[in-house]
Amino acid sequence: MRTVLITGGSRGIGAATARAFAQNGDRVIINYQSSHQLANSLAEELGGIAICADVSDKAQVQAMLAQIGEVDVLVNNAGFAQFAMFDALSDEDWQRMLGVTLSGAFYCIQGVLPHMIHQKSGAIINVSSIWGITGSACEVAYSTAKAGLIGMTKALAKEVGPSGISVNCVAPGVIDTDMNACLGDDILKQLAEETPLGRIGTPEEVAKTILFLAEGGHFITGQVLSPNGGLVI
Ligand code: NAP
Repeated sequence: MRTVLITGGSRGIGAATARAFAQNGDRVIINYQSSHQLANSLAEELGGIAICADVSDKAQVQAMLAQIGEVDVLVNNAGFAQFAMFDALSDEDWQRMLGVTLSGAFYCIQGVLPHMIHQKSGAIINVSSIWGITGSACEVAYSTAKAGLIGMTKALAKEVGPSGISVNCVAPGVIDTDMNACLGDDILKQLAEETPLGRIGTPEEVAKTILFLAEGGHFITGQVLSPNGGLVI
């Protein structure tokens, strides 16, 4: 049975991903930051465990990994939206975005790699965004961090490929989660109309893509797969 760590697994894409892996027969570890009740009831439902840790804090990540032991699949999914004009971004906003998105992935990957290298197998999936590919106005920090995850994915794939480890990226389009609730119905409707498939995506569709990348036998590494309904082609 594989052990799968999903950061930000309490809600949205992370929770759907935890469900997909559990249905696949994997042992799921649900990391979260503050949604104690959601994370713990999901873990109970899936027969996994929930662990509270802010991924931007190295000590908290190390304590979480010490509690888990060996991890076979890591999904770096924890993230948050941040809307602001570039000149209004504070140092704190900037550091928080890079801390959660990039340092969080860095700390988690460094922690799980020794076991993956030792067993000569493993899968790492980083959750980026279409905005990390195309850039988004008023989301420069978010776009920068998500583009950084793509660079990390490609470089690390080259470095650890010889150890039998795949590193891939999922770059979702607009997905129906809490993260987009603040956009409002009119903007979401407009985004759906701009999407060739005519709707926004579901967390389950992204989870399916992540699960696929975590499976062996597809010869895919260092790639960005974008479930986005055709919004970005
Ligand atoms: P969501 O519903 O808001 O869930 C965010 C998750 O991240 C929650 O589980 C949250 O934990 C966790 N989290 C946030 N900061 C954390 C931290 N510092 N340490 C640990 N966990 C933390 O968001 P979502 O839409 O599912 O997004 C998941 C990922 O997909 C994000 O990386 C996001 O950027 C990316 N994405 C989303 C969309 C979209 O349209 N929704 C599109 C492209 C990419 P708590 O519940 O404890 O707060």
